[in-house]
Amino acid sequence: MSDYRKPLPVADELSRPYWEGARHGVLVIQRCAACATYVHYPKPACPRCGSSDLHPTPVSGRGTVHTFTVSHYVGAPGFENETPYVIALVELEEQPGLRLVSNLRGCAPSAVRVGMPVQVIFEEVTPEVTLPQFTPRAS
Ligand code: ZN
Repeated sequence: MSDYRKPLPVADELSRPYWEGARHGVLVIQRCAACATYVHYPKPACPRCGSSDLHPTPVSGRGTVHTFTVSHYVGAPGFENETPYVIALVELEEQPGLRLVSNLRGCAPSAVRVGMPVQVIFEEVTPEVTLPQFTPRAS
C-alpha cells in the first residue's frame, strides 16, 4: 500500500486517456478530428466546432509558464513538508490557449517567471497514478 497522502485524481470516462498516458510517460490531450483543435480539460464535444469526434493525442509536453502562484498554505493532508510550492498554468506549444494546471518541480519558487520554458515530467505517486508535472527546460 502506498504511503502517498495527497489527494489523488479519480479518472472518469473522459479523463482516463490523460491519466493512462501519464502512466506510460506520455502527455495525452484530446484533439478534435473535425477541426484539429486541441481540447483540455477533456470534454464530450469540441468547444470550437461542436464535433464529438475527439481523440486522445500525444503532445510534445513542451510549453511555457502562462501564469503561476506560490502556495504557502497547507490545504490538504500530505502538503505539510511541501510549502512553498509552485502551481503553474502551463501553455503547451501545440496551440495558443491550450493550458493545463500543474506543479513546477526542480525550480526555486523565487526563480519562476511568466514565459519560462518548461517540459513535462512524470511523477509516479502510487502504482496506479502518475502525475504530469513540469520542470524548467532550456529555451
Ligand atoms: Zn472541433
